[in-house]
Amino acid sequence: MSMRIYIHIPFCVRKCKYCAFFSVPNRAELYQPYVDALCVELERRATNEPVETIYIGGGTPTVLSIAQLDRIVATINRLYSLAPNVELTVEANPGTIDRHYLKQLRSLGVNRISIGVQSFDDRLLRSIGRIHTVRDAIEIVSDAKSIFDNVSVDMIYSLPHQTLDDVKRAIDQIKRLDVEHVSSYGLELEEGSEFYRLHAEGRLPLPTEELDEAMYDYVTTELPRLGYRRYEISNFAKPGFESRHNLGYWSDAKYLGLGAGAHSYDHVERRSNVEDVVAYIEGINNGRDVSTLEETITREIAVEEFCFLALRKADGIDRRHFQKKFDTAIEKIFGSVIDELALDGLIAVDDDRIRLTERGMKLGNIVFAEFLL
Ligand code: SF4
Repeated sequence: MSMRIYIHIPFCVRKCKYCAFFSVPNRAELYQPYVDALCVELERRATNEPVETIYIGGGTPTVLSIAQLDRIVATINRLYSLAPNVELTVEANPGTIDRHYLKQLRSLGVNRISIGVQSFDDRLLRSIGRIHTVRDAIEIVSDAKSIFDNVSVDMIYSLPHQTLDDVKRAIDQIKRLDVEHVSSYGLELEEGSEFYRLHAEGRLPLPTEELDEAMYDYVTTELPRLGYRRYEISNFAKPGFESRHNLGYWSDAKYLGLGAGAHSYDHVERRSNVEDVVAYIEGINNGRDVSTLEETITREIAVEEFCFLALRKADGIDRRHFQKKFDTAIEKIFGSVIDELALDGLIAVDDDRIRLTERGMKLGNIVFAEFLL
C-alpha cells in the first residue's frame, strides 16, 4: 500500500482577497520555529509505506528560504521510503522567487512546480490582491520552463470586472508559455475571504451568469484544443503530466498531511491538525497530539466519497475498483441514480467506467449530490 505526503506551509506575504485557505500573512519570525516543529512531526509520524508523491503547498511555501525547504525535504528523505519516481511538487508565488531560487529548488529534488499566476492582467492582479505583476509571472514561468520538465500554472476566471477578452488573452499567454499543466478555477466566494464580505455587502461586481458561463465554455473548450486534456473538472494537462498527487485525492489514496491545518486520511479516519500556527508549534514542542478526529470513515461515507471524488476525473468511477473495495457492484447501491443521470445526459456508462459527460461536468454539483446516501 502506498501513500502521499502533503506539507502545509501556512504563510503568505499578504492575503489575497478571494482566499480563505488557512494562511497567515507577514509572520516571518515564525518560519524557523515552524519548520523545526514540522520536522519533529515528520519524525513522529514516519511510516515504512512507500511514498508516491509529496506536495508542499500553502499558503506560500516559497516564502521559506531554500535552507528551510532543504531541511524539510532532507527530513522526508531520511525518514520515509520514497518510490523511485516520486513526484515532488512545490507551490510557488511569482512575487517571492527568482531564477536562482528555482534552480536551487530543482537541486533539492523538486521535479514539479505549480505557479500561482491567477491572471495575466495587471489591473485584475491588483484588484484581487496578488503581490506580483504579469511581467513577474511571465518571467518566472519562462525561467521555470527552462529548469523543470513539469510546470503548472493556476488561473482564475469569473473575477470582478473580468471580461471574456481578458480570459482569451490569458489562454493565449498560456499557449505561448507552453506549460505542461493548467489548473483553472471559476472564482468561488469562500466564507472568511474579503470578497465574501464585499459580496455580502453588495459591493462585489461579479460577472453575470451568462458571462460566467461564456468564460467557463471558453476555457474548457480552448485548453483541450491546445492539447491539454481535461483530466479533472478544473485541471488540464498535456499527456503524461497529470498531477499524480491530486489524482490520489480523487482515487481514494491514503495521505498524510503535516503542518498546521493539514488533513490526513488513511481509509479508516480523517484527522486535521490544529489551524493555528503558534498552537501547532507549541503543541509539537510539548509532545502533544496536534490533530483532532474529523470523521470516522463508515462504509456509507466511503461509498459516497469514492463515487463523487472519482466522478471529478475524466476517467470517472472504475467499476472494478468499486467492486473490489466494497465487495458489491455499484448498481446494487446506485442503480436507479445511474439510470436517471444517464437518461438526463449527465453521465456516460459503459462496462468499465461511469463518467461525467461535458454537460455533467458543468453541472457536477447536481450529479455529486445524487451520490449521497
Ligand atoms: S491565494 Fe495563495 S498567496 Fe494568496 S493568500 Fe491564499 S494561499 Fe496566500
